[in-house]
Amino acid sequence: MKKLCRIVVLDLLIDEEKCSRCRDCIAYCPMDVLADRGDGVPVVAAKERCIACIGCMALCPSSAITVVTDWACGPEAPEGG
Ligand code: SF4
Ligand code: SF4
Repeated sequence: MKKLCRIVVLDLLIDEEKCSRCRDCIAYCPMDVLADRGDGVPVVAAKERCIACIGCMALCPSSAITVVTDWACGPEAPEGG
């Protein structure tokens, strides 16, 4: 039996002061985690859907997003599973 470990998302931090309101992160997010606050600044609409792909953090031209992750191990995974 092998232990099943995975990345978990602890928080999504958006620095409004740095954000240039380009909306690229909102358009990119494959899980619709981010939404437009109304003025182009993203807000976290559904953190539970985040898969920690870190695309939003990587593409942000202003380095305004930080995806805070950790590493967690859960129940035993079946062999070969
Ligand atoms: S990609 Fe960065 S600068 Fe553009 S809206 Fe998102 S947080 Fe703001
Ligand atoms: S890490 Fe990926 S899934 Fe999570 S908010 Fe950013 S783009 Fe969306």
